[in-house]
Amino acid sequence: GELGGRGATAGLDPEQTQAVLAPRGPVCVLAGAGTGKTRTITRRIAHLVAAGHVASGQVLAVTFTARAAGEMRTRLRELGVGGPGQPPVQARTFHAAALRQLRYFWPRVVGGPPWEVLEGKLRLVGQAAQRAGAPTTRESLRDLASEIEWAKASLVPASDYAAAAGRTARDVPAPVEQVAAVYETYETLKNRAEQLDFDDLLLHTAAALEEHPEVAHEFHERYRCFVVDEFQDVTPAQHRLLSAWLGGRDDLTVVGDANQTIYSFAGASPSYLLEFPRVFPEATVVRLVRDYRSTPQVVAAANTVIGAARGRAAGSRLRLEGQRPPGPAPDFAEHDDEPAEAAAVATAIRELVDDGVPPAEIAVLYRVNAQSEIYETALGDAGIAYQVRGGERFFQRTEVRTAVAALRTAAARAPEEARGAGMVSLVRAVLGEQGLTDEPPAGAAGQGAARQRWESLRALAELAEELVASVPEADLGAFLAELTTRAQAQHPPTVQGVTLASLHAAKGLEWDAVFLVGLTDGTLPIQHADGDDDAVEEERRLFYVGVTRARVHLRISWALSRNAGGRRSRRRSRFLYGLVPDDHPAARVPTGRDGGGAGGSKGKPACRLCGKPLPDAASAKLGRCSTHPSDVDESLLEALKAWRSTEAKARSVPAYVVFTDAT
Ligand code: ATP
Ligand code: MG
Repeated sequence: GELGGRGATAGLDPEQTQAVLAPRGPVCVLAGAGTGKTRTITRRIAHLVAAGHVASGQVLAVTFTARAAGEMRTRLRELGVGGPGQPPVQARTFHAAALRQLRYFWPRVVGGPPWEVLEGKLRLVGQAAQRAGAPTTRESLRDLASEIEWAKASLVPASDYAAAAGRTARDVPAPVEQVAAVYETYETLKNRAEQLDFDDLLLHTAAALEEHPEVAHEFHERYRCFVVDEFQDVTPAQHRLLSAWLGGRDDLTVVGDANQTIYSFAGASPSYLLEFPRVFPEATVVRLVRDYRSTPQVVAAANTVIGAARGRAAGSRLRLEGQRPPGPAPDFAEHDDEPAEAAAVATAIRELVDDGVPPAEIAVLYRVNAQSEIYETALGDAGIAYQVRGGERFFQRTEVRTAVAALRTAAARAPEEARGAGMVSLVRAVLGEQGLTDEPPAGAAGQGAARQRWESLRALAELAEELVASVPEADLGAFLAELTTRAQAQHPPTVQGVTLASLHAAKGLEWDAVFLVGLTDGTLPIQHADGDDDAVEEERRLFYVGVTRARVHLRISWALSRNAGGRRSRRRSRFLYGLVPDDHPAARVPTGRDGGGAGGSKGKPACRLCGKPLPDAASAKLGRCSTHPSDVDESLLEALKAWRSTEAKARSVPAYVVFTDAT
């Protein structure tokens, strides 16, 4: 194991060690990307269990994505925690944890058959919109659905919606009274149909704990130690659930990076992170600055990106210090059109794979999910296996549904066998009948849909192995139950291949090679952020998240038109200013407002922070817009003020962010 006999702090730096060894009680790690926050909390759990402070089954760790939860469980097993004879540590997303708890407590708090998790939300929002006389185009329904999600995540009930939306000057998809009516009708229809949406999972679970002392008592006996990763993006609803979990106790470790706040449009707020040391004055507070993930070249790019941010959060003034050996300089490429950009990405990926980089260590990251299609085509054409995160839901795939049906049939046909040992072998046999082979199919059969089919089946087989590794007595029935729970919690297994993901879905993850694509003004930053400084800053943080996913290879590209031979109607992102080296070929292309490169800005000096032409003499003297905040240290309170005003300002809600990604 990784411990190598030296305990849970082997291979950690002094600050990480301090966080790991801190006595039970509140601990807060405020640190930038790649500094080892996730690693530190995993080790802290291992330490607390190994030292006998808490039993493995009494720890509840919350991660932001299902994949991160799976990685943490694997890590902990490798560290010897929750191995045979020990209950596993519960590492889940807020939603998955809430779903499990709600199901468990359901007979006592509600009774009757458990409600279903709502599928087809837009349909229900559509019915509600119709009754409220609100617009019912697909676009409006998505906006309405996002607005309802925001309200529920922000703990704003339908009755308070109009007032709350007015107070925060939200950019709402319909008159506020109408949105409130849609929200209210949606809730009524949903509850009448005995369904739960994702936000309900959090709210109902919190309510169960708040309103049923015996339920709370049992829960508090069961879980004694809480750990939350990515704490900068906690919503009020999640925070309420966490408080119910704690029940006034303070055995809580949180880690986060305010510079990676990317869900504030959806109600998340970094103030819980930034205020933590004041809420728990006795907390152990640790800051980390060494970046262990990326080469110094990638770290330098990340520092440039976040160094240009406005309204900077506490801690951001700490520059990341790269610890890894040097690697290649980040690469920049400008293309005539998107198909050319995608083809170039596929070619570069092929070269990396031929050089020995495993496809699973490569990611293509984009701003909106709609961008994935062209990359799917390009990778498919190049015969490169890929998986789309937040794309077609794993459990909805035809091959997965067929395989699960076959497993059910097998369980029904041979209940004795299904109950007996050899769980994994039975699953393998059934999946073998579905076409699972030891190696991926070769040649043309190994590409495109056939490859995806194989990858899906393999992912199911690995899931069975994972289950048996953590619960050795698990049988086919238990596996089917696990699949049902995962399907309902939108918790797909990991599929091998190049990852295609939105920047939102990439949070917390890392790859050897990262392709950041579509770096044009209008895509990153997204068009509707234009003119709203706070929205642009959230876009910049999203870019920072993207840059900091790369360990070694970072390639940033953009295209000047959408279609081959199309009008060159786009320009590179303003965020590239100061990032593309002057001697880079991509820097010589005239670029208009971002001022980057030799040909930019028609000779007018540009702001080194935002790239726009300097507006006045004072700015010219400073070399940046005089209205930008200076680089001097800002106190925590100032940072908080900035964040608060961010939240109070209008924000339009992009509907395409797939919430289920985060569960
Ligand atoms: P993010 O903000 O993106 O979530 P993070 O702070 O959680 O990043 P981790 O994912 O924990 O960072 O760590 C980044 C990488 O650095 C991982 O590959 C991790 O294993 C490695 N790492 C962390 N700490 C150390 C260390 N002390 N020595 C060597 N490698 C480390
Ligand atoms: Mg992390």
